Amino acid sequence: MLIDTHAHLDEDQIAPILADVVQRASQAGVTSIVTVGTTADSSARCVELSHAYEAVFAAVGIQPNYCGQASATDWDSIVRLASGGQAVALGETGLDRHWDFTAFDVQQDYFERHLRLSHQLDLPFIVHMRDCDEDVLAMLEQARRRNPLRGVMHSFTGSIDTARRCLELGLHISFAGMVTYRKSEMLREIARAIPDDRILIETDSPYLSPHPHRGQRPNEPALIVHTAACLAEVRRVDLATFSQQTSENARKLFRIPDSKPDGID
Ligand SMILES: [Zn+2]
Repeated sequence: MLIDTHAHLDEDQIAPILADVVQRASQAGVTSIVTVGTTADSSARCVELSHAYEAVFAAVGIQPNYCGQASATDWDSIVRLASGGQAVALGETGLDRHWDFTAFDVQQDYFERHLRLSHQLDLPFIVHMRDCDEDVLAMLEQARRRNPLRGVMHSFTGSIDTARRCLELGLHISFAGMVTYRKSEMLREIARAIPDDRILIETDSPYLSPHPHRGQRPNEPALIVHTAACLAEVRRVDLATFSQQTSENARKLFRIPDSKPDGID
């Protein structure tokens, strides 16, 4: 039993073949998938998918690289979707200095909005952090001074020091396919050191398929078994135990029920 805590099932590469993708996930033992919004429209589609598929749950938010295109009504629809009890998380949010699609102060404004909304609605947040660890940590540390944090650093590729500081802030850390790559020895060392109750796994589908499917496009939730197997070996636990640990962590963080209450589907 596995939970993919981060996929983009609404993206063009996956949406047309989604029924097959969800079925293959189920056959691979993936019981739940969190599909994560990147814009207001994408978030609305994620919520629709969560209604269409028993195994799918939605996160709603505006990804930092898309904040520059967002309008005031876009943010209003994120708040509305998040307030309606249809989303299990806010995201993805965060900061990105790798791409230059959105002015950095605009990214910071939206990150702050997601963090405040997370506390207000008691929903966890999902953080995207690329080439800006200190900027992200500074905002998280400031938010932590206001209230406890509930969230996850998604597709973690930062340093051991960043990982420690995120754990001190109360956050979870999620690993994607990159941890399985031959050259990711440092990342595997970090993954080994994450406490049992704070580690999560994800595919970040349709991006970056895990070894031995590296290069396969699109990546899909069924392939999470390879990431799980790699991390179980790194952490010297058997796969069943590791799968159970990470699934329990995901269920607690996102409050994913064993089965959806009647009326949601
Ligand atoms: Zn993502």
